[in-house]
Amino acid sequence: MVTGSMVTGSMVTGSMFTGRTAPSPTGPMHPGNARTALLAWLHTRLHCGRHLLRIEDLDTGRIRPGMSDLIRTDLTWLGLDWDAEYSQSERLDHYAAALARLRTYPCTCTRREIQEAIQASAGAPHGSEPVYPGTCRHRTSTGSPAARRWVVPDTTICLSDGWSGETLCQHLPTEVGDFALQRGDGVYAYHLAAVVDDAEMGVTDIVRGADLLSSAPRQIALQGALGYRLPRYFHTPLMTDFGGVRLAKRSGAPSIQALRDSGLSPKRVLSDLARSLGWNVPQEVSAAELIPVYREVGSGK
Ligand code: GLU
Ligand code: ZN
Repeated sequence: MVTGSMVTGSMVTGSMFTGRTAPSPTGPMHPGNARTALLAWLHTRLHCGRHLLRIEDLDTGRIRPGMSDLIRTDLTWLGLDWDAEYSQSERLDHYAAALARLRTYPCTCTRREIQEAIQASAGAPHGSEPVYPGTCRHRTSTGSPAARRWVVPDTTICLSDGWSGETLCQHLPTEVGDFALQRGDGVYAYHLAAVVDDAEMGVTDIVRGADLLSSAPRQIALQGALGYRLPRYFHTPLMTDFGGVRLAKRSGAPSIQALRDSGLSPKRVLSDLARSLGWNVPQEVSAAELIPVYREVGSGK
């Protein structure tokens, strides 16, 4: 049963149009990431907005040296510029301040304990993700190090996606559960950092890959709890082919660096990125030349 009020991720009014590209420097950029970056850039530039580059480098175990520079090189080579740049690792005090404003509790459960608790509870796992059953909510003593989980509001969050036009609703307690805002090793969770940054940087429009669609309701919930304005969301389809070649899952796609090194021009790569969306464009096209194409066909509808 769905309880609580309906909250809808909808309009932002009265602020400067701001978009962003938020790469994680965990590996080289592939055509899929580049296409998402292209769409985010086109979306901002079509609306004459401000475009931000945010390096999402919080997960120290996964980031790889040199990748931030390589991503900047790749974006610049493709002609996708930005007006300001931030790294999340420089903004830890902002995430700490936001975390302190939310009702959280320490959790020392291991992955295995969570699985066992889910199996032991009456409700079968809901959806594809295991839902943390709130085991540590009422525990007083904890070992360390502990993650911090947010007591999610008993609400259903609905998001109307600007790209597909589809609506996604999630009931937080049963479909999401109390999710971690900080890991046991102190690393702030992506959801918290992204929400804080988007709000503090005045982001009005979030264009990103469809793999993050199911993250949007929990991010909207955090925006509500922190009193932030809700951005518009556009989740773009994941790439299935590039240069007319069908991409196998998790392999096959060359990096943008490899395409550059092979002698392809950036205009040719941009053309292949646009064509992979079904856009009818010449074999060589600049990023700026794609702005009117995006206006005509790019909204996804
Ligand atoms: N850093 C994420 C990624 O590279 C994007 C996060 C976001 O756009 O909210 O997939
Ligand atoms: Zn726990």
